[in-house]
Amino acid sequence: MRLRLPEERPTEPPTGYKIAHAALSQDGSRAAFLGVSLGAVLPYGVLDDAHCAYGRRHRSPSRLCDCGFHCLHERAGAAALTCTAEHRGALLLEVAVLGRYIRFELGMRYARQRVRTATAGPCRCRRRATGLADAGWGRPGWRVVEPVCPGCAGPRVTVGFDEFARRGGDGLKVLAAPAADSVGPGRTFPELVAEAALLQARLDWFQSELARLGDQER
Ligand SMILES: [Zn+2]
Ligand SMILES: [Zn+2]
Repeated sequence: MRLRLPEERPTEPPTGYKIAHAALSQDGSRAAFLGVSLGAVLPYGVLDDAHCAYGRRHRSPSRLCDCGFHCLHERAGAAALTCTAEHRGALLLEVAVLGRYIRFELGMRYARQRVRTATAGPCRCRRRATGLADAGWGRPGWRVVEPVCPGCAGPRVTVGFDEFARRGGDGLKVLAAPAADSVGPGRTFPELVAEAALLQARLDWFQSELARLGDQER
């Protein structure tokens, strides 16, 4: 009787997708990622090994435990996770799955990971983000940073995407997703609201002029 599942021997590391918060070490010299579920305690580096989240002395992943890195097979599935309020500031990661892994229908649980690209979503104001600024929370020794536009960054210390990638090392690339509410080429929701107010003001003026001319005609 066969007790083990067939082992896969891929020629290339499998690709997976997940979300994580970007974090900077307290002195700002190192960049890392903070997971959003089980791995939300300790940040992990661009290239890192999984450790048991419960502190058990076994190799991760283990069939007897749910620890290890986790990812989904589909990019859209991971992107959907950023819709929830607490994950709005999280980045979408494309990772290379290294070492031993356990494959599931929707994703994988595995031993070692390289983050290839991190894509920052729009700023909370829906404009395209240009950097990462202190999100106001973190872990001992680590500050979480979130995507911001120059207008919303304010006095907060902001690190550019290239600079975050450099501090992360190991070939990390950080990209920016386009603005969230683009309606037509390059038009954001606040821009359209401003234009609607302007049109309304012009229409009010036009109607008062018409009424004035109408009175003169009579
Ligand atoms: Zn474990
Ligand atoms: Zn903004």
